[in-house]
Order: sequence, then C-alpha cells, then structure tokens
Amino acid sequence: MELTCLSHNRDKKLFLFSCCIPVKGSARGAIYDLQRDDIELVPNSLVDFIGYINKKSVQNIIDEWGDNEIAWEYLELLIQKEFIFFSSEDHFPKLSHKCFNDDTSKIEFMTIVLSEFVVRNSKAIVERIEYLGVKCLYLHLPPGTDWEQILEFTYFLKQSCVISLSISLPYQKDFNPNAIKEQRLKNLYFYSSPYSESIEIYNVNSYFLEYNEEEFLFPRAGINSISINHRAFLTGKKANLGLYKTVFVNAKGMLQLNSIDIKEYGCILDSDMENNLFLLSEVWNIKRDKIMPCRKCELKYACTANFIPTYDDKKKMYFINCNYNPSTNEWFT
Ligand code: SF4
Repeated sequence: MELTCLSHNRDKKLFLFSCCIPVKGSARGAIYDLQRDDIELVPNSLVDFIGYINKKSVQNIIDEWGDNEIAWEYLELLIQKEFIFFSSEDHFPKLSHKCFNDDTSKIEFMTIVLSEFVVRNSKAIVERIEYLGVKCLYLHLPPGTDWEQILEFTYFLKQSCVISLSISLPYQKDFNPNAIKEQRLKNLYFYSSPYSESIEIYNVNSYFLEYNEEEFLFPRAGINSISINHRAFLTGKKANLGLYKTVFVNAKGMLQLNSIDIKEYGCILDSDMENNLFLLSEVWNIKRDKIMPCRKCELKYACTANFIPTYDDKKKMYFINCNYNPSTNEWFT
C-alpha cells in the first residue's frame, strides 16, 4: 500500500516533482508529466490539494487530512504515479522558464500541398525549406495527383535539414513506402480509405483513414494531438503550440496558417520572407490563455490543434471553434 510511504516519512516534507505540472481547467484538471511525456487527467480539487500540501511536512499532512478519505485517495494516486517525493529538502532544480525554445529554425513544421506549381519550383522551394530550417516536412497530395510527383520533389530534398517526412495521399491498395526512397519518411496517411487502420509497413507508420480530403485536413483537437514535454510546455505557455513556427503552403505556393485559412501571408518564393514570417508570428504568438475556450482548458499547454483565433471586438477576446468543450469535457467529431 503506497500510503505506508507516508508513515515511513513522517519526519520529512512532501514535494511535487518540478517536472510535474498541475493545470486547472474549467471542469477538470491535468497533471503534465514532462519527464515521462504523459498526462494524467484529474479532478480540479486534486490540483488545489497539490497546491495546499506541496512542501508541507508529512506529519502535518497526516494530522490535517488523516480522516479524509478523498485526501487519502489523492495521496495514493500522487505516490503511485510518482508525482511527489519525500525529503527534508527539495533537491531538484526548478524548471527553467527562460529558454522556452532554443531551436534556431524560423519554421519547424511545414505542410506543402503538391501541385504542378510546387513540383515545377521544387529546387527553389527546397532552398526555402533550407533557409527556414524546417525540421518536420509534410507533403500532401490532393486527389488526382500522380504520386510519383513526390519523387520529383523529394529528389531535391536529399541534402536538406529536414529530419522527419510525412506524406498524405488518397487511399491506394498495396502502396509500398519503399517506393518513396526516403529514409526520413516516418508517417504515411491514406485518406478516403474504405477502412480505418494503423499499421507499420517497412518501419513507416501507415494510417488508413476514412476521412475524405477536406475532413482529413480540417483542424481538429484530440487527445492524440497532445504533446507533453518540457519544450512543448514552455512553448505552449508563451505562444500557441499548435501554430508556433508552423506553416501551410497551398497549391499556389502561398503561406497560410492551416488548410482553411482565408488569409495568405505571401509566397514561399518571396524575397521578403522576413516580413511574411513576422505576419505569421503575430498570430502564433497569441497565447492560449488569451483564447476562448482554450484559456479554460486543461490541455491548453499541450494541445497542438491548429485552429486560427479570431478577435471579437465587442468581447475583447480571441475565439476559436474547437471540437472539445472544456466545460463539459465532451469531444465532438
Ligand atoms: S479548447 Fe483549445 S486547448 Fe482545449 S482542446 Fe480545444 S484547441 Fe486545444
């Protein structure tokens, strides 16, 4: 029984590990375990309880909460999940909030819709990818596009700084990922698939999705799009994690924030790229704490959904239309 730990540590204090971050939401809270890249959804009262007992002496906690069944349950969970430790002093360094993103790239995540324009300008676009320092590249093939256009484009990618490549294309039976000839290919998404499945084919994660193209590209929040680690958390505190250093390049080569963005922020081939980036950064720097309903959401510092906030002049607040309701904890499709 975990609680025997308490009796054995009566002479010590209780500390929350600095890599475990409690976050309150509107209807429930969460504890982000930044070391294990994990999240535990918990009642808000547990988040309050942690704030109350952290750094207190174990003997005081036992004296004060000894008769409270819920408090014992909470303590048991905190011990079992290793969110807390007992010691006479907190030996662990505090989490640094200063260096929130040491990545020097101007854009980290880029989606490109493959088109005649893009393929015709492959070399120049790949030079832009290099200049921007893109780490994760995502190529999207609209229906009716010859998949071999991927080869024409990736030919120029060989020497690039891209670390991870993902490709989405309409469903194809018996598609062989080796045909792409790219060791950096990590994920293949087949939209408009007659069935739903995720399997590994030749070390490539292959997802067969029943969504049509529009549904596939549509921004969506989900428990699977949660990113828990120190860097993501600090980025999420200071900016919008779903949009930060992320860009969507449409079939005409124009920069947008996502597939349904009605604005364009210049062309990827523009010589004045810095100005385009500045315009994009104005949006990605709007923190989720300033966006409704994100500010009331327990997932706000880990959520990578790329909804674009719009400003309501009357309410003096940014809004998004999310498929998750933090007030009821309901998910919508
Ligand atoms: S409300 Fe905001 S933070 Fe919460 S899931 Fe939706 S987009 Fe993500």
